[in-house]
Amino acid sequence: MKELWRDGPREECGVFGIAWPGRTVAPLVYLGLLALQHRGQESAGIATWGEGGLHLHKGMGLVSRVFDDRLSALPGSVGIGHVRYSTMGSAVLENAQPVAVPSPWGTLAVAHNGNLTNAPQLRDELVRRGVRLRGTSDTEVLAWCLATSGRRTPEAAVRAAMPRLEGAYTVVCLVDGALVAFRDPFAIRPLVLGRIDGGWVVASETCAFDQIGAEFVRDVRPGEMLVVRSGDLHAEPVLPSARRAHCVFEYIYFARPDTTLAGRNVHRVRRALGRVLAREHPVDADVVVPVPDSGTSAALGFAEESGLPFELALVKNRYVGRTFIEPDPQRRDLGVRVKLNPVRELVAGQRVVLVDDSIVRGTTSGKIVQVLREAGAKEVHVRISSPPIRWPCFYGVDTSSRRQLVAAELDVEAIRERIGADSLGYLSQEGLVEAIGLAREDLCMACLDGQYPTGQPREELAGRQALEVVR
Ligand code: SF4
Repeated sequence: MKELWRDGPREECGVFGIAWPGRTVAPLVYLGLLALQHRGQESAGIATWGEGGLHLHKGMGLVSRVFDDRLSALPGSVGIGHVRYSTMGSAVLENAQPVAVPSPWGTLAVAHNGNLTNAPQLRDELVRRGVRLRGTSDTEVLAWCLATSGRRTPEAAVRAAMPRLEGAYTVVCLVDGALVAFRDPFAIRPLVLGRIDGGWVVASETCAFDQIGAEFVRDVRPGEMLVVRSGDLHAEPVLPSARRAHCVFEYIYFARPDTTLAGRNVHRVRRALGRVLAREHPVDADVVVPVPDSGTSAALGFAEESGLPFELALVKNRYVGRTFIEPDPQRRDLGVRVKLNPVRELVAGQRVVLVDDSIVRGTTSGKIVQVLREAGAKEVHVRISSPPIRWPCFYGVDTSSRRQLVAAELDVEAIRERIGADSLGYLSQEGLVEAIGLAREDLCMACLDGQYPTGQPREELAGRQALEVVR
C-alpha cells in the first residue's frame, strides 16, 4: 500500500487484463485489482467489452469503494483494469484509468503503468494536429497516439506507436473485443501472462493470477505485443531489446512478497537482501526489528544471518484511514505514531537493529528511531535493504526531483545524525545485485547510480506535473 505516514518511494500503478470467451469477466478483473491494490490507491477503473460495446467505470479511492455494487453494469468476456498512484498528472478523476478515447475501431480503452519521458513532445504534436486532450496524464497522450495513428487495425497502431514512445510503459488496451498488451523494450515495469481454462490473462504481478486461479505462463517479453481475439493469443516482437532494465525497487519495495518477477520470488529476494546486509553491516545488538510490512522479509534475513532474535516489536495499525493522515504535514507527523506502536517489553533496555527498505526524504526514519528510544531502546542501529537513493526516477515512481532525496544532499554519516541513529548501514549496489540474482546489465538501478537505461531525461519534462506545465 502507498503508506502516507512513510517517506518511502510511492508505488506507481497496476494493470490487469483478461479475455475469457463465454464468461463474464468483470468480477475477475475486480479480484485482480484487489490483488494489485498495493500498487496504487488513488483511483481504480475497469473497462469491459460486451453487449452494447465498451463499458467503463472508474472512480477515486480503493477498488472496493469504487466498485461497490457496480460490477453488474460491466458485462462482457474481455476486460481490463487499473489501479493508480499518479506519477504523471494530478490525482483527479479525469486522470483516472482506463482512459477511453474514440478511435477508428470504436472506443479504445487504455491502462498504463510507467512514465513516458517524451509525453510533453508527443502531446504538443497531438495538439498541433487538432486533438483536444482532457486530462494531464501521459496515458491519455498514449491513447491518442494509438487512436490517431491512421493505421487500419489496433495492432498496426501499436506497431507504429511503440518506436515513438520513450521511457517506461507497460500497457493493456481494450478495443473492438480485442485485448492488446505491450511492454517497453527495456521491460522496466513488470507484466506477466497467465492462462485460465480457455482464457488468457495479463497482470502487473503474479499475485493477481493466484487470486483468480490462473496459471502463470511467462513474463511478457521486452518490446513484445500480445493480442487476444476470440480467445486466440497472438504474440509478436515489435521492438528489439538491446538490454533489459527491470526496476530493482519492484524487488526491494513495490511488489507483493508473494509475487514472482523475472523468475525471482520477491519475499526470497528480500530475505536475501537482509542476509547480505547483515554481512556488510554487522552490529553488536540484541534484537532485529522490521519496519512493517515492507521491511519484514529483509529483517528476517538479517536475523538469520546475524543469529540475532527477530521480533515484531513495531505494531502497525492498519485501520488509520488516509483521510486522517493526508491533509496536512502536522497530521502526517502524527501519522507515524498513530500507524506504528512499539512493544515496550521487547525493546526496553535493548540494543535494537531496525531494518527498513529505503530512505527517501529521511523524515520518517527519524521519527521511528525516536519512537523506539521513547519506548526504552538503549541503542538503535538502522539498516537499510537498499543502497542510498541519490537520483530521481523517471519511470513511474514519485521521486522525480533530486531535491526530494536526502542521500542526494548528505553522506551516510550526516543522514545518521539527522535520523538520530547510533549507526546506519545501507546495502551496497553489489550486494543488491547479488541478492536479486540477475545480471546487473538486466537491471535498472538509475536512482542509485544515475545510469538511466533510456538516456537521462530532463527533470522538468518528466515529473509528475510535466503535462500541467505545458498545458
Ligand atoms: S530509477 Fe529506480 S525506481 Fe525508477 S525504475 Fe529505475 S530502479 Fe526503479
